[in-house]
Amino acid sequence: MSLDEYLDTELTGLQAMSLRRRLRIIQTGQAESVIFAGRELLMLSSNNYLGLANHPALKRAATRALERFGVGAGASRLVAGSLEPLHALEAHLARFKGVEAALVFGSGYLANLGTLTALTGPGDVILSDALNHASLIDGCRLSRATVMIYRHRDMEHLAALLSASIAARHRFIVTDSVFSMDGDVAPLARIVELARSYRAAVIIDEAHGVGLFGRNGAGVASSLGLEREVDVHIGTLSKALGAYGAYVAGSRRLIDYLLNRARSFIFSTGLPPAIASAADAALSVIEAEPERITRLHENAKRLRDGLESAGFKIGSTDSPILPVMVGEAQPALDLADALFARGMYVIAIRPPTVPPGTARLRVTPIATHTAEQLTVATEAFAVAGRATGILC
Ligand SMILES: *Cc1c(COP(=O)(O)O)cnc(C)c1O
Repeated sequence: MSLDEYLDTELTGLQAMSLRRRLRIIQTGQAESVIFAGRELLMLSSNNYLGLANHPALKRAATRALERFGVGAGASRLVAGSLEPLHALEAHLARFKGVEAALVFGSGYLANLGTLTALTGPGDVILSDALNHASLIDGCRLSRATVMIYRHRDMEHLAALLSASIAARHRFIVTDSVFSMDGDVAPLARIVELARSYRAAVIIDEAHGVGLFGRNGAGVASSLGLEREVDVHIGTLSKALGAYGAYVAGSRRLIDYLLNRARSFIFSTGLPPAIASAADAALSVIEAEPERITRLHENAKRLRDGLESAGFKIGSTDSPILPVMVGEAQPALDLADALFARGMYVIAIRPPTVPPGTARLRVTPIATHTAEQLTVATEAFAVAGRATGILC
């Protein structure tokens, strides 16, 4: 079989299982609504939770840095020199997170890969929540440590695995703080307690925690006063913060070690300076306007109440991530298509992103959506749900 024939077979197979993916071209920036195929659609599928991706303060900061520092970072920061806006951002991130230091990576995926592979290796045990993000899973695989997966948020199972791994050189508990496809929150207080009694380190991924929870949006660990109990804080600059890239934050020693050992930091070009300045400005906007976070949660409650009264089943979320559960992939696609036809940009989430039989529409409001927009969305869902037979 030629490569072309092989690829065709694979793609046809995905199509037959309703699992083929495609890109949709958007003709505007990310905002409360976007233009797709010449039509305006309400955006309900982004991680632009606070509406910062298109915010004037971020655009101004990026433009200023662009004029002064240009576009590309030139090379790895260890090679061509480390541009000043990245250091300003890292200092701001450390203050924001309430820790000693921070290091910026090219993306959340790279931060997770680099951190796990730098900190862990053969002889170590990583205890990983079953629903952790793919980038944490890939980091576990690449690390060559022994990986023990505990049932989702199951602290008895975690304790049993900690007991069973006493012989390990080092142990690391790794978890999303807010689970990206379900919106539920890790039991961080209990995790920290277990880590203390079993002498394990704690690594958390706050990709969907930063900007959503805690003082000024510093994350779930901050909301519980556990900044100092968590050893490694990872988060993205690309979701609520509206920019791109990611950070690892913690002790100065941790940061110094990572910049010597994290291969995805060492062997990858630095973040573009304009993007770093935009993320820096995003932190300032959140600190000056924490009411954006309040509005996000209000909008999530409004939308959730609306969808539930319409008859939809929302998964057990504790955050503005609202999983509208469907089940099989094809009905989820049909519901998303029916919503597109009614002016709603919502994407079906299918395996392998979520377990088989749990296809869903992952609905996320934006802090800047108006109450009226959310009412229109709820009505569109009700109509689309009946049209597709998902609601009776
Ligand atoms: C999105 C996401 C990442 C990856 O971040 P990128 O900056 O988009 O590469 C990592 N972890 C979690 C939990 C995420 O949701």
